[in-house]
Amino acid sequence: MAVAESTLSGPKTREVLPEETRSRFFPAQVEDISGQSIWACMQCGTCTGSCQLAQEMDHTPRRIMEMVRTGLREQVLTSRAIWYCASCHSCTVRCPRGIQVTRVMITLKSLALRAGHVSPRDDAPAFYESFLRVLRLFGRMHEPTLVTAYALRTRPTRVLGMMPMALGLMRRGRMAPLPDRAPGLAELRRLMAAVERVRDSESAGAREVGIRVEQAPRARGEEVMAR
Ligand code: SF4
Ligand code: SF4
Repeated sequence: MAVAESTLSGPKTREVLPEETRSRFFPAQVEDISGQSIWACMQCGTCTGSCQLAQEMDHTPRRIMEMVRTGLREQVLTSRAIWYCASCHSCTVRCPRGIQVTRVMITLKSLALRAGHVSPRDDAPAFYESFLRVLRLFGRMHEPTLVTAYALRTRPTRVLGMMPMALGLMRRGRMAPLPDRAPGLAELRRLMAAVERVRDSESAGAREVGIRVEQAPRARGEEVMAR
């Protein structure tokens, strides 16, 4: 049985997780996609100490690193912490082991989306997806389209509440009412498609790694946990 703390700010409560809730290939998958060495983490907590949003997270960045290493896939991918991460890079620049924690967080967001762990009505993932959709459409940001797409995916009545501010900004020339396509749109779309192809092939590669790790007689995660 694996033991996991249910909070990060301290062992307020502890739950015993059955062995089958852990994924042995999850650490390898996260390493493959993020390009970061999860196993280099020495659990010093500098990332948590540097994170302005750690107080709002259900699991701090240090704890997320630990949970990834111990294969708590479902708990990590359903965590709100990964969506509270603002990709500010504070943790990345201060990590004494040179781990780009921000890239790990981005990887976890991506895996959560692909695993269908995110409700379409969840605010943070909906915002990320709406942002990418606007970029794909116009090659640059268009705030009214972004806000409308985001509101329609979450709470459509938000649009009405934002109307007065949007109209004020448009009147003052601070926001364009109609979108304007970027000159290099076709190239940007090709780039985004290429990134998606790489991401998909990385996922496939990581799945293969996962199968190999799952079949290994003793997984790396188990060795670390046994220490
Ligand atoms: S700062 Fe780096 S080494 Fe320290 S806990 Fe965070 S990820 Fe691990
Ligand atoms: S990148 Fe994310 S986890 Fe790291 S300090 Fe910023 S908000 Fe916190």
